[in-house]
Amino acid sequence: MARQSRKEQARYAILVVDMLNDFVYGKLKCARAARVIPNIRRLVAAAHEKGVPVFFCNDEHLPIDTYEMKLWGPHAMKGTKGAQTIEELRPDDRVDYVIPKRAYSAFDGTGLDRALKGVYGGKGANAVVITGLHTNICDRHTAYDAFVRNLDIVVAEDGVDAFTEHDHVSGLEYMKNVYGAKVKTTSNIIRSL
Ligand code: ZN
Repeated sequence: MARQSRKEQARYAILVVDMLNDFVYGKLKCARAARVIPNIRRLVAAAHEKGVPVFFCNDEHLPIDTYEMKLWGPHAMKGTKGAQTIEELRPDDRVDYVIPKRAYSAFDGTGLDRALKGVYGGKGANAVVITGLHTNICDRHTAYDAFVRNLDIVVAEDGVDAFTEHDHVSGLEYMKNVYGAKVKTTSNIIRSL
């Protein structure tokens, strides 16, 4: 029997960031993304089995998002195939949540924080598991917003990736050192769900 003083039970939410056609196969394709697909699939399947909520946080840009258009060119434009989740990870409409976003962070103007408060019968999630692309960009900015909302952060080290090994490793280190993220393998995360 758990004692009152015991650390509060983790109530996880899985975030799958930008596993979209344009990021994996299209305009901003990332060859390194292939290795994370099976790991995210396993994690999402385990989450479904255990009733852990899964949020697909997907870029869905408008042409007026000039801050990103200038830097990256048009990508994941609203209404295009490029903005859809890759077939291998297609969200299950019955249980998964899709959160469209227009900036790096999955929290930026999206209502994700409110959505996270609604899960677990309104008790809310108190921890996020970050997966998807890219370790040093959207994953890292999402981690910042989770950090300032006092959510525990777990990053799936084999479930996130970036354009280069350096970008990936430095992104992981940054989230660990600056946001206190726990960096774990997908298999370890699955065991703790
Ligand atoms: Zn974008």
